[in-house]
Amino acid sequence: MSEEKQSIEELYADAAHWHVNTGGETIHAKRVTGRFRNYKWFAGSLWLLYFIGPYFRWDGQQAIFFDIPHRQFHMFALTVWPQDIWMLSLVLILLAMTLFGVTAVAGRVWCGYFCFQTVWTDWFTWLEEKIEGNPVQRRKLDAAPWNARKIRLKLFKHTLWMLIAIVTGVTFAAYFTDVFDLWLRYLSLDAPLVAWAVLAAFVFGTYVFAGFMREQVCFWLCPYARIQSVMLDKDTILPTYDAKRGEPRGKVKGKGNESRGDCIDCQLCVGVCPTGVDIREGMQEGCIHCGMCIDACDSIMDKVNRPRGLIRYSSEKEMTGIKLPALFKRPRVIAYSSIFMLSVAGIVYGLTHIPPVELSIVHERQPLYIRMSNGEIHNKYTIKAVNKTLDDLHMRLSIDDESGVTIVGGTMDVVLQAGKMVPFSVFLTAQPENLQEKKTRIRFILENTGTPAVRLSYKSVFMSPVGKQE
Ligand code: SF4
Ligand code: SF4
Repeated sequence: MSEEKQSIEELYADAAHWHVNTGGETIHAKRVTGRFRNYKWFAGSLWLLYFIGPYFRWDGQQAIFFDIPHRQFHMFALTVWPQDIWMLSLVLILLAMTLFGVTAVAGRVWCGYFCFQTVWTDWFTWLEEKIEGNPVQRRKLDAAPWNARKIRLKLFKHTLWMLIAIVTGVTFAAYFTDVFDLWLRYLSLDAPLVAWAVLAAFVFGTYVFAGFMREQVCFWLCPYARIQSVMLDKDTILPTYDAKRGEPRGKVKGKGNESRGDCIDCQLCVGVCPTGVDIREGMQEGCIHCGMCIDACDSIMDKVNRPRGLIRYSSEKEMTGIKLPALFKRPRVIAYSSIFMLSVAGIVYGLTHIPPVELSIVHERQPLYIRMSNGEIHNKYTIKAVNKTLDDLHMRLSIDDESGVTIVGGTMDVVLQAGKMVPFSVFLTAQPENLQEKKTRIRFILENTGTPAVRLSYKSVFMSPVGKQE
């Protein structure tokens, strides 16, 4: 029965089932409709992108692809190589600052609305409600002896849960290999061992955490729940019970009990809480700030003709009558958003300055130089060039300076294959009479004439036994 259709008396009867629960039993939270429920649905639906992500194609390939063997990350037109991995650190800092900033302003928004644990749990319990009924009916079913009906309902529910868990696992693995090939290999039982291991871990994790442990994972396992208190302050807005207005709580106000507060002690706020918290007892570690108790209480206030907001998003200061300061005046928000902006700037700079070719040149040390029979001095260099583009590049290597040092043969042509690291060696030569010093500074130039136009320079030295010591 939905809460709109329940009378206050029926709610009081239901309340016998609702109590604070810290893990002793499976929580069957009641579902209510309302503003925050809608936000939760919307936020959860964003996770559907996770399932369709591997099916996007770009330039004939999987658009989002972690290519572990080639150590590349592809995202549409962008390819990130190990050399650009510093940007990943900035992305992690950016995500952390977003989380910290949002938590400082509005508490555990991530936990209540976006976290995969709460979102998957929400989907699992929604299915459970569709199959087994409302919380009261589910508790009765759990307590009932096994019969054909119970077996049928339980089997159907667990099959659907398992299917979600399998699709979740396959989708995760699909970000690391071609999704269509992966499906074929799983279905023909021909997938590599690592793919089976990933699938097994995800199926187990999803099925057990979302199906059985539910929000107890938030309460007992999640480290974020432990550290969030350092991010909150007296200005953070959180689901808060207005005790001044609500107390003394008691049955609906009426003749003889006019002095009572607005809380009619129906306990619906406890019944809808996925972690079994009683928000009226103040902020507690188990609260994931999902706002379900706000929707529940608002529906009750509507029933008893009292203003909404007995439970509402509010800060500790606001509750004592102090006005909430502007965001830009809060030191935490300033600090988090400054680091956030710096990270964004670094990532934008990195993305717009990824060179199409990476070059590294190492001078051979054993031996440092070779004296040829005609008197010339030779040095050997090992060159590694990474072509990060999607096309082969025809490049020419030369020496820029008028140092008296040249490549044996003048210049060297080399083809850099698309998306590959090409190693090759080159010999430089010089006549001893042209060398002023034992260590001559030189500059390699690697360039092409096609598109994209590439011109890279790389400083190095040429070693010889003649000339001045530097
Ligand atoms: S706070 Fe609201 S929902 Fe909770 S018991 Fe009181 S009236 Fe009911
Ligand atoms: S107390 Fe309210 S906001 Fe906190 S977890 Fe429970 S329902 Fe969500």
